[in-house]
Amino acid sequence: MVSIERDAKFCPYCGHSLGSVVVEGKQRSYCESCKRVIYDNPVPVVAGVIIKDNGVLLVKRGIEPRKDYWSLPSGFIDTMEDAETAMIREMKEETNLDIKKARYITSIAQRGMRYNSVLIIGFHITEYKGELEPGDDAVEAKFFKMDNLPEFAFSKHYELVKIVLKKEKLL
Ligand SMILES: [Zn+2]
Repeated sequence: MVSIERDAKFCPYCGHSLGSVVVEGKQRSYCESCKRVIYDNPVPVVAGVIIKDNGVLLVKRGIEPRKDYWSLPSGFIDTMEDAETAMIREMKEETNLDIKKARYITSIAQRGMRYNSVLIIGFHITEYKGELEPGDDAVEAKFFKMDNLPEFAFSKHYELVKIVLKKEKLL
């Protein structure tokens, strides 16, 4: 198991050890040296949900964290990239599908393994083209029937699938 340091211990600006301070009722990291409050913001991640014939498209992760577990096609947003563009890019990279129509569903906060908090921005994809083929961080890509789902790499991905099914009345 890789050891994971979620909370920063040193100031990202000057390298001084961080203390803490209460700001507006919340405990925050504080750098005594630059007199700066260090805010810990969530890292946004996009995830795409495709439902077909009572099945959901999942990819097998080829990298850590949670290597060999199944997840929704998902990934980090690049600098200056918007969420929808990131989702379309990640879907292409991990599944080879070209997304034609998708809509934002909801966002869910998840405790990260590498980051303190990750914000999963979920999309329901209703139109797409292309041959399903795993790529990039994904070693397999396939549809799983709802009554035969594998263990998810990230529990909130499963929650997102359930939200899509409920919202779209697909169950
Ligand atoms: Zn500092």
